[in-house]
Amino acid sequence: MTIMQLNSFAQNKWIAPSGNTRQISSAVTGDVIAVAGSDGLDFQAMLDFGRDVGGPALRELTFHDRARRLKALALYLQERRDALYALSYMTGATLTDSKIDIDGGIGTMLVFASKGRREMPDGHVFLDGEIEQLSRSGSFLGQHICTPLLGVGVQINAFNFPVWGMLEKLAPSLLAGVPGIVKPATATSYLTEACVQMMAESGIFPDGSFQLITGGTGDLLDRLGPQDIVSFTGSADTAFKLRSNPLLLKRGVRFLAEQDSLNGSVLGPDVGVDDPEFDLFVSEAVREMTAKAGQKCTAIRRMIVPDAMVRPLSDAIAAKLADTTIGDPTLKTTGMGALASASQKADVLATVSLLSGECSRVFGDPERFDVDGADGDKGAFLPPMLLRCDDPDAAVNVHSVEAFGPVSTLMGYRDLAHAGALLNRGGGSLVGSVITNDPVVARDITLISAAWHGRLYFNNRTSMKEATGHGSPLPHMVHGGPGRAGGGEELGGIRGVMHYMQRTAIQGSPDILTAIGNTWVTGATEVKPTAHPFTRVYGDLAIGDTIYTDPRTVTLEDIEHFAEFTGDNFYAHMDEDAAKANPFFPGRVAHGYLLLSFAAGLFVEPNPGPVLANTGLNSLSFQKPVSPGEEIHARLTVKRKTGRTDEYGEVRWNVTLFNRDCEQVAEYELLTMVAYQ
Ligand code: NAP
Repeated sequence: MTIMQLNSFAQNKWIAPSGNTRQISSAVTGDVIAVAGSDGLDFQAMLDFGRDVGGPALRELTFHDRARRLKALALYLQERRDALYALSYMTGATLTDSKIDIDGGIGTMLVFASKGRREMPDGHVFLDGEIEQLSRSGSFLGQHICTPLLGVGVQINAFNFPVWGMLEKLAPSLLAGVPGIVKPATATSYLTEACVQMMAESGIFPDGSFQLITGGTGDLLDRLGPQDIVSFTGSADTAFKLRSNPLLLKRGVRFLAEQDSLNGSVLGPDVGVDDPEFDLFVSEAVREMTAKAGQKCTAIRRMIVPDAMVRPLSDAIAAKLADTTIGDPTLKTTGMGALASASQKADVLATVSLLSGECSRVFGDPERFDVDGADGDKGAFLPPMLLRCDDPDAAVNVHSVEAFGPVSTLMGYRDLAHAGALLNRGGGSLVGSVITNDPVVARDITLISAAWHGRLYFNNRTSMKEATGHGSPLPHMVHGGPGRAGGGEELGGIRGVMHYMQRTAIQGSPDILTAIGNTWVTGATEVKPTAHPFTRVYGDLAIGDTIYTDPRTVTLEDIEHFAEFTGDNFYAHMDEDAAKANPFFPGRVAHGYLLLSFAAGLFVEPNPGPVLANTGLNSLSFQKPVSPGEEIHARLTVKRKTGRTDEYGEVRWNVTLFNRDCEQVAEYELLTMVAYQ
């Protein structure tokens, strides 16, 4: 077999390994399959290319442009994923494992693409929260905004997810508008390199949006500045070494760390051996031990179960593990492939030997196990190993040393407080799970343990058919954890994008805030359009276009008619004495929904036109009651515009209702879809 020369992708060129190179072996056969090395790279030139070429080109695009490109890129990779699976086998991964990595990475990109279009503006500034009223009359206001960092994201990944690890960092970074310099772990960098080749060939993102280092990072980190960010995934030791770089500290370079984690899973005290939750615990435990041969940062390392359940669970888990075939990951019958490298295998064995001082082995002998279809002496194979710790309070290593492989330790607890205390002994985890059918158990353990965890996963008979699994980070939900887990946070929907952006508090007049946020703010200039805005197509509507309607008097007959028609006979509208006794009302008042309906009647243009549909209403507040005989009128203003499909875009309107004294009686945001043509 030819040995792959793994190139780096720098300044739009592929650079072959040179100088101090490193050989990479197949996890399955032990044969050398690739060579990597980054001595030929000019790291300063890479940074300059990202900052001066990639960043400006990305920032020229809107959030929606970038989201559309993310989707196109994800689909491009999806069509070519078979080639990636073929390489992935050499990392020891079965097809199921490869899908977690490759399809998981593509899926993550798709979620960011979709969230970017749904939850971010089709512009360049992201508004964070509502307007803050900083002055009495409203001439001076505040608004938080987020804009992309002007540097690069250096994205360093662990060996276990060569594709997902890259894409789950690159997707939020590109959506934010920040170029990435990707540095995969060398041991599996051949898979990342193949994926980056496809990404570059696609031409979907502008030059400089991403670059790749296969090999070491040299002095790259020393060259980073305050507009750059390091997103790191890997071991706690490496994270500590990198984040304590004095130059990074001195320059205030952002550093996000996702590191190892002694995740625990608790079986609730409510669960008996005949309950579905018992089998569920066993399945989750076995899956977490064997998927990707246990090389998942989120895998269950500690199983924390009621004392009386230690025995039945160790029997049930051992029986299920015994059914797992270990071997050549290309075989359909293989349930668990190899670890990623011989050195990883050696690491796991050393850790298990350390843990054996505190634990006994229930299942899995690394000296004696069958390997199907491959040479067990050459490949990095291990059996799943279930350990039992009889004194988890006294144990230290069990709660602090991660065996990054198919290893997990079972331990007993006395009561829920004890279970929570053991769970928290991980010192900060990515995920803790609780298998319980008792909501009170779930709530109690949340109060004990949520602060030590980035994610709490509850599962039971109700959710088990659809639950996504203890060990699956989801792009919608935060991935990261406090303390030992690194203190960082990734994913979590748009929260993940914010790591690559700067939040800035903007203070100024309504017109200034309107111009910056491209969103009309109360008090900003109102422009009187030449025609009713509902007769104008999307492109002809401008932020700030405003009409005032004629007034309408709300009569007692209107109120009674509305009450009878809708059945809403609430006493505040129908009973003068009872309404007067209520601290909010001077007497009978109009229904709020009647006012909304009258407002629509006042401002809509009835004929068919570009306004296609009213799709919702946000932030409705009724601010002053309207008594029978009072007059109301409405103000309708174009607040924000967002392109949605090829045919129409969303227009958000500010609608404000006033009484005759021009006091506000109600305000809301109206959502409509308006045709482009
Ligand atoms: P690692 O040895 O800490 O390496 C992580 C990354 O750091 C690799 O890309 C590595 O590159 C790089 N690196 C090492 N020393 C460096 C240096 N001096 N300068 C710049 N980069 C450097 O971890 P690993 O063995 O790849 O991964 C296993 C660990 O990752 C486990 O502890 C696991 O729990 C953790 N992990 C965490 C998550 C999470 O999301 N929290 C996900 C996956 C894995 P080289 O390969 O070239 O050395």
